[in-house]
Amino acid sequence: MSLVLIAEDEEALLEIFAEVVEALGHRAVRAHNGEEALTLARTEPPDLVVSDHMMPRRTGMELLRALRAEPRLAAVPFVLLSAARPAGRDEADAFLAKPVDLARFEAAVTQALSSRPSSVPGPPKHVASREPRPASGVAREELVSWVAHELKTPLSSARLNAQMLLRKVAQRGGDAECRSAEAVLRQLDRMNQLITSILDAGRLSEGKVELRTAYCDLVPFLKELIGEWRELEPRVEFLLTGIEEPVKLSFDAERVRQVLNNLLSNAVKYCGEHKRVELGLGVSPGLAVIHVRDWGVGIPAAELPNIFDRFQRVDDDPERGHGLGLFIASQLARLHGGSLSVRSSRGEGSTFQLRLPLRH
Ligand code: ADP
Repeated sequence: MSLVLIAEDEEALLEIFAEVVEALGHRAVRAHNGEEALTLARTEPPDLVVSDHMMPRRTGMELLRALRAEPRLAAVPFVLLSAARPAGRDEADAFLAKPVDLARFEAAVTQALSSRPSSVPGPPKHVASREPRPASGVAREELVSWVAHELKTPLSSARLNAQMLLRKVAQRGGDAECRSAEAVLRQLDRMNQLITSILDAGRLSEGKVELRTAYCDLVPFLKELIGEWRELEPRVEFLLTGIEEPVKLSFDAERVRQVLNNLLSNAVKYCGEHKRVELGLGVSPGLAVIHVRDWGVGIPAAELPNIFDRFQRVDDDPERGHGLGLFIASQLARLHGGSLSVRSSRGEGSTFQLRLPLRH
């Protein structure tokens, strides 16, 4: 049995994290903020710290750095959780994006407890604290972002609880109950995707998204991505073209992945009976051009000029999406100094082209 210190300011999440850790056979010690976690760690050094980032009094990153600065605690493995992507998160032994998936959380705890601790402290950096809540009379957009942000935590907790529930009913063999729990999980996932998109769209419109670029070859990146899609959607044939030569440029891999995932998921959603999607790479002067093509339903000409605007959807089926994906994708392309465009005709399919400047 190991001692796991859990730091989380949201009571509902703290409880469910502790419950999961205890179900894995460990002892859980609960802290409601970073300062309390540090005091508890000094009193009884834990075998592992699992910590949220956005906490009052001391953020997760500040807690991590404080622990790494104390010889007795420097080697304690640290799993960081956050809905944002805090700077320096690589200093933790593992980073999990919220909402946290039950199986991933369990795997991270088990892995961190069994791994050799890393104790290389990074340079101290300024870490932003929780964003202030808006005063009354704020713009509608800000309010929407704030609501989305506040919904993340209860949603995280609901999702973990639903996963626990699903596991328990599956063990008892209740098929109908399993289906209900799965339906709850699916809907929570949809809510989570919507909330993530609202937050992303808001931050992009306000110019708050910063790229973390690195100079890399697009070819292995696209190969890995297409491999993931082949696994995810085995009924669709994924083609990858134009990857004979390396194409190197500076880009934010996580963000370009987000753009391409949106284009690929749309291509899969709207490919109709032609279950074939092509991801291609080419070069034109000064630009890398990535295209995503499908041979599906296509987009009516009248809709094309608005397709990259917020909340624009061609069909009215809310099950299929929320009309923010292409807005986010085009903004991310622009942020890279590139662009996103489309050619499409009804019944013949669509080709989206992402252009990225070939610069160091
Ligand atoms: P959504 O979440 O609704 O898919 P997007 O912004 O990604 O939002 O797409 C906006 C709309 O553009 C979609 O609702 C769909 O009507 C249309 N669309 C996007 N990609 C395709 C495609 N490959 N084929 C046909 N229609 C598409």
